[in-house]
Amino acid sequence: MGQIRCNKCGKLILMQDGNRKEDCLKVEKEWGYFSEKDRELHTFYICESCYDAMIRDFVIPVRKQQVNEVV
Ligand SMILES: [Zn+2]
Repeated sequence: MGQIRCNKCGKLILMQDGNRKEDCLKVEKEWGYFSEKDRELHTFYICESCYDAMIRDFVIPVRKQQVNEVV
């Protein structure tokens, strides 16, 4: 697996050896028939600081829930 960079700011998120430098948002969207991107699969990564900046503009805040650690 190659390097992963934040699509918004270009910051390196994942190193060549597969070790994650930080957590990030991965968006994978297969646009369907009723979109204008008929059957295109779009993938991009957003780093945490770009994510924070993005959700700051949301009219309706992100729903946050605590996730229990899987043992
Ligand atoms: Zn970024």
